[in-house]
Amino acid sequence: MLQVEGLAKSFGGFKAVAEARLHVPKGQVAAVIGPNGAGKSTLFNLITGHLKPDAGRIVFKGKDITALAPHQVSRLGVSRSFQLLNVFPRLTVFENVQVAVLARLRQSGKMFTPARKLVVTETTEVLDKLGLTAYADRLCTSLSYGDQKVVEIAISLGSSPELLLLDEPTAGMSPEETRTIVQLIKNLSGSEGLTILLTEHDMDLVFDVAQRIMVLHQGMTIAEGRPEDVKKDKAVQNAYLGETG
Ligand code: ADP
Ligand code: MG
Repeated sequence: MLQVEGLAKSFGGFKAVAEARLHVPKGQVAAVIGPNGAGKSTLFNLITGHLKPDAGRIVFKGKDITALAPHQVSRLGVSRSFQLLNVFPRLTVFENVQVAVLARLRQSGKMFTPARKLVVTETTEVLDKLGLTAYADRLCTSLSYGDQKVVEIAISLGSSPELLLLDEPTAGMSPEETRTIVQLIKNLSGSEGLTILLTEHDMDLVFDVAQRIMVLHQGMTIAEGRPEDVKKDKAVQNAYLGETG
């Protein structure tokens, strides 16, 4: 579904991403791991068109999306959440998701009167899927950080993506909130058949949830493949597992 080859991005001479490659098969959960500063968020910004690469190629469903703008990438079916919380604090949970559904319908030209009903149906569906129905009328700010993060994922799903990118979805979460997110990711990929690419620095979580792993070290892909193979990789053991114990 997604293929990244030879991707590079420098910020004033500093190579944040260099020679990154990645392969995300349809229907799988794939993870990019690496310590802080490895280039994970930059890689995501390149994939979603928020940054332009200096070199390399990004192919989504057989189409070269390397030079596309964020709204074009989104329209093709790629949605993302950010590392920092990104919800409208003064809107309710329902309204937050509704905005995303509306944006997609407007793009697809379905914004005539019956669309109103369609928006409510689709928004309700997304809230149901993520277990947020009971919170529908609450202001986002009144929820716990973990629940707000789930709302953010609901917003990402509002655009009906085929590929969902989650940038450190469990950052700053308690162990219990982390378990909720992990279960959610498994459900979305399992029963919903969504393809998911996430970044994470917690090794254990990644090996629990991902069927494919890419290890980023100082902007470079040092290993990519099935978890059991990545775990055995000498370069990974030296560069990453060694550092974190
Ligand atoms: P990660 O998400 O893996 O923690 P980032 O992609 O955020 O890593 O950052 C990789 C490196 O690139 C870091 O050293 C960071 O300081 C640098 N960097 C990221 N974005 C910018 C930017 N817009 N300008 C300059 N340096 C940046
Ligand atoms: Mg990051």
